[in-house]
Amino acid sequence: MQLDSPIDEIFRLKETQKKALGKLNIKTVENLLRHIPSRYGELIETKLITEAIPGEVATICGKITNIKKNRAFKKRFSLTEATIEDETGKIKATWFHQPYIVNMLKEGSFTCLSGKITQGKNGAYLANPDFSSQDKLSSDLNNRKNLFSDKETVEKTLLIPIYPESRGVSSKWLHHSILKILRSGAHKEISDPIPTEILKKYKLPSLEKSLVYIHTPKNEKDARVARKRFAFEEIFFIQLSHLRARAIHDKDKSIIIDTKQEDIDEFLNKFPFKPTNGQLKAIKQITEDLKKDKPMARLLEGDVGSGKTLIAVTASYAVVESGFQVAYMAPTEILAQQLFKNFTDYFKHLGVWAQVGLITGSECRKFPSKSNPKDSTHISRTQLLKWVKDGSVPILIGTHSLIQKGVKLKNPALMIIDEQHRFGTAQRAKLARDKAEVTPHLLSMTATPIPRTLALTIYSDLDLTILDEMPPGRKQIITEIVSPVNRTGTYAKIRDELKNGRQVYVICPRIDLPAEAGEPDLANTADGGSPGANALRDKALSLNVKSVKEEAVRLKKDIFQEFEIGILHSKLKPKEKEEIMQKFSNGEIDILVATSVVEVGVNVPNATIIIIEGADRFGLAQLHQLRGRVLRSNHQAYCFVFTDSKSKTTTERLKALKTSKNGFELAEYDLSLRGPGELGGGKQWGISDIGMEAIKNIKMVEAAREESQRIIKEDPELEKYPLIKERITNQKTEIHFE
Ligand code: ADP
Ligand code: MG
Repeated sequence: MQLDSPIDEIFRLKETQKKALGKLNIKTVENLLRHIPSRYGELIETKLITEAIPGEVATICGKITNIKKNRAFKKRFSLTEATIEDETGKIKATWFHQPYIVNMLKEGSFTCLSGKITQGKNGAYLANPDFSSQDKLSSDLNNRKNLFSDKETVEKTLLIPIYPESRGVSSKWLHHSILKILRSGAHKEISDPIPTEILKKYKLPSLEKSLVYIHTPKNEKDARVARKRFAFEEIFFIQLSHLRARAIHDKDKSIIIDTKQEDIDEFLNKFPFKPTNGQLKAIKQITEDLKKDKPMARLLEGDVGSGKTLIAVTASYAVVESGFQVAYMAPTEILAQQLFKNFTDYFKHLGVWAQVGLITGSECRKFPSKSNPKDSTHISRTQLLKWVKDGSVPILIGTHSLIQKGVKLKNPALMIIDEQHRFGTAQRAKLARDKAEVTPHLLSMTATPIPRTLALTIYSDLDLTILDEMPPGRKQIITEIVSPVNRTGTYAKIRDELKNGRQVYVICPRIDLPAEAGEPDLANTADGGSPGANALRDKALSLNVKSVKEEAVRLKKDIFQEFEIGILHSKLKPKEKEEIMQKFSNGEIDILVATSVVEVGVNVPNATIIIIEGADRFGLAQLHQLRGRVLRSNHQAYCFVFTDSKSKTTTERLKALKTSKNGFELAEYDLSLRGPGELGGGKQWGISDIGMEAIKNIKMVEAAREESQRIIKEDPELEKYPLIKERITNQKTEIHFE
């Protein structure tokens, strides 16, 4: 068996399995070996019925007979009973409040039940036991016996790896196949891309050892050590490839934009407000970068509402004034339209040389219009592209339409990306593709607060400017956590604000009701524990979640009859979205019920209240960003977080939201409280689940950073590290410029 052998040459695969493996990105034997368990299930020791002792929790495997569904205690409770038999005897099992158990158990089937052995009037019984199939337990155990001859270890080793699955390949199938590869010894042929001295320094196991540990841990420590190694490996290589890309990028030539400070000052004077010190500092850093002949690669990170647009507009001014072009890419049409408006506002005093174009999937516009120099006009795509190509429109703002075929700038010197993490590598690379002999400067912007460890990893190729100051005069937002009993009172408060002319966002987690909508039988979810109960509870929860469409109807009918209510979500057509935003923006709509699409960049200063429904469905940093939507004016802003969750974690998280003013703090808090999963999953950052485990560990991230910096500094061409070179050339990482 070769490491690079295609997996379908080694195993006989059905079409569905091939597809599923493709989805999991498993093509070769090595890929499969590197498919890492997401967790470990515990194999529970089973007891014979005669060994079971009342008062203890035990797992009993046997045949199910005699299933009965009853009503007990004056028919108020449902009671399900069954008998389980093994070679030594039989025992009763009973379930309260779980009538659906009847459908999950089959008479005559072989099952394992785990629960407390309880002494009743008529003998011992298993109370509310969980069940799983004996098949799974015994086959896993046999497999492990085959792998290790050491019988004793196997008996005590109760960790069964659970793998990320895909329809067509189960965790069990993956486990079996990986065991086959390990038995063949193929893993011994893998060369370790992490230099030995680094492994030694940080006490990390070799790749060969780690593979055995991670798939067949003898104990938790093995699994932990191996996971640590894979986590380190991932972030080490992400950082290495970033730093190497940056080293290459730094050798490129770019256009020198040398703007006089007086010109910048004069431009800034035209704004209706004074820039904050933070804004001035950021502008200074950017204009200094632009003066160099190597391309800028800078990330501007600042909370929602901190005023990043002013900085982008000023940088654009510097470039356009020097006779070059700017492309500005935003993730949504709404945001692109809003930016277009900002630019036309701030550029209109400059005259015709500072024309601005807008390109989105649904329209093209240009400012100023020939007939009305104070306004913009719709023009054809062809016309706009012609003017962009000959340089007569120096600023082009758009969505990803900006990077489609046919869009070509004459002399682009600055590329700006708003909410940069919303774009993929390929999209960002395309924006910079126009480079002829020069590479344009790059300014990336983000309002997504992330913990420092994550920033150090995913932005290691960028210089960082942090905008940590809000424009002055803003009142602190008042955040209130509202429980169901206080809903009515809160609506009354909101009505007062609406009467004073303010506007409201209502954020719901879903667009529609789930398909299987129906009356949930909540009584049945009271007693948790078994998988059946959980599934039902999940369903009930999902049914309780508010949807945009339904909530808008409810608010209009029952609560805010006298106000105009509009809805906004991703399934609307771009034209409809714009209309709604327009109406909200000019006050025709008082209440906008929306999904989290408004999270990105929308600016309606008169909207000062945000209601968030189903808050436990959002990460804290995301809630903070949503809250930022209403921090756009000097009116008192309110955030009402509606929740009916009684869980302690939820309460604590929401409390943190109430007291914390800063998104970065919240991101750190979510990371420490709920783990990396809360950052919205690693996928959007290009990091796997195991890599995200490292993000929780500042020491590990710093070690990876130190080592990768040292290597790139000592040996930028990686001549001494052929394995590293091969690995980072082949791996796909999010690089922010290319
Ligand atoms: P973001 O960083 O989220 O992109 P914006 O650039 O949209 O923030 O700015 C948010 C609001 O603050 C806008 O209405 C903008 O006009 C206003 N603003 C920006 N800078 C200042 C400032 N220095 N003083 C007062 N208001 C400002
Ligand atoms: Mg913005």
